[in-house]
Amino acid sequence: MIFSQLTHLPIIFQVDEDIFARVGHLLERNKLSFNNILVVSGGTISYDLSIDLIRKYKWDSFVLSNNDFSEIEKLKAYCLHKKHDLIIAVGGGKVLDSVKRVCYLINLNHISLPTIISNDGLISPIAVIKNERGKTESLPGSMPMGVIIDLDIIQKTPIKYLRAAAGDILSNLSATHDWILSYNKNGEYVNDLAFQLSRSAANSLVHFNEKDLHYKPFLRQIIQGQVNSGIAMSLSGSSRPCSGSEHLISHAIDYLEVGNGSLHGIQVASISLFILFLQDKLLPEYIDYAKSTGIPLLFTELLNSTENRVLIEIFRKSKEMRPGRYTILDTITEVEFIDNFTAFKNEINYLVR
Ligand SMILES: [Zn+2]
Repeated sequence: MIFSQLTHLPIIFQVDEDIFARVGHLLERNKLSFNNILVVSGGTISYDLSIDLIRKYKWDSFVLSNNDFSEIEKLKAYCLHKKHDLIIAVGGGKVLDSVKRVCYLINLNHISLPTIISNDGLISPIAVIKNERGKTESLPGSMPMGVIIDLDIIQKTPIKYLRAAAGDILSNLSATHDWILSYNKNGEYVNDLAFQLSRSAANSLVHFNEKDLHYKPFLRQIIQGQVNSGIAMSLSGSSRPCSGSEHLISHAIDYLEVGNGSLHGIQVASISLFILFLQDKLLPEYIDYAKSTGIPLLFTELLNSTENRVLIEIFRKSKEMRPGRYTILDTITEVEFIDNFTAFKNEINYLVR
C-alpha cells in the first residue's frame, strides 16, 4: 500500500475546547480563503453539529447516507457540478474516509472535524470504503489539510470509543518490538523518527498521571498520540510502526468471525498485553494502563470461545493476514503459542488476585 509522504501533512492542527463554531475564524487566521465550501456530514449527530456551521457561514451541505462506492460517486459528482474548492468533513470514520477518498479522486482540499476518535486513522492517507459486495476496502485517500478537534464534543462520545482510541496506541509498544525483531533478523529498515514517534505516543499515555478517559488533558494526550502514530506511519511508508503481531491476531479474529464485536482499538490493546508477554517486554505499568482505561487483560474475554482449538485457528490465520510482516509469531510453534498463553493467563490471574 502506498502512503503519501510527509509533505502532505495537515497545515492546521487544532485541539481545543468549544472550537467547533470557530472553524471559519480558524481558516481566516491561517490565511486560507475559499470561495465555495461544502460541509459533508452523516445523517444524525454530525448533521446536527454541522447545522450551526452551515447557517453561520452560509456554506453548502451534503449528507452522506453511507460510505460505499455509490455514495462516493454521488458526492464526487456533486462537488464537480457545484465547483466546490474545499470540503469540511464533520463526523466519524465513515464520513472522514469518504471525503478523503473523494478528495483524492478529484484533487480537492479538505478539513476534518472528527466527532469521534477511536483509532489511529485520524491522520492517514487511507480511506476505508465499502465495495459493491459490502466488504470494506482500504483505498488511497488524501490527507486532510487541516484537522480541528473539539474536546467538548469528543468528551461526550460513548466511552468505548475513547477506550478504543487509548487502546490502539498501547499496541504501538508490541508493534515496535516486532519491528526491532525484524530489523535484527532480516535487516528490515527502521525509520528512527517514526520509531520514536510511535513509542513515545504510547509511553506518554502509559506514564500519564490521571488516566481518566473523561479528563480533558488525558484526552488531548490521546489525540496527540493518534496524530504522532499517523505521522510515524506516513514517515515509514507503511503501518509497521503501529501494527505488529497484535494487529495480525486481531485481523485473524475479525476474518474468522470468532470475536464478540468489540472495537478494533480495544481488541488490539488487549492482544498487545499477551504479545508483550511473548516478547518478554510486559511491564506492570502496561497492565495498570489497561486496568485504568478498562481494557480487558485477557483477549480471550473478547472471543466467543476460549477453546485451544479456536486459539490455534487464530494463530494459524494471523500468519496469513500480512505475508512478509515478520513478528514474534514467526518465532514460535502452535504448541508454544498455547503454552505461553496459559502461562500468561496464570500470571494475570496472580496479579489481579
Ligand atoms: Zn490499529
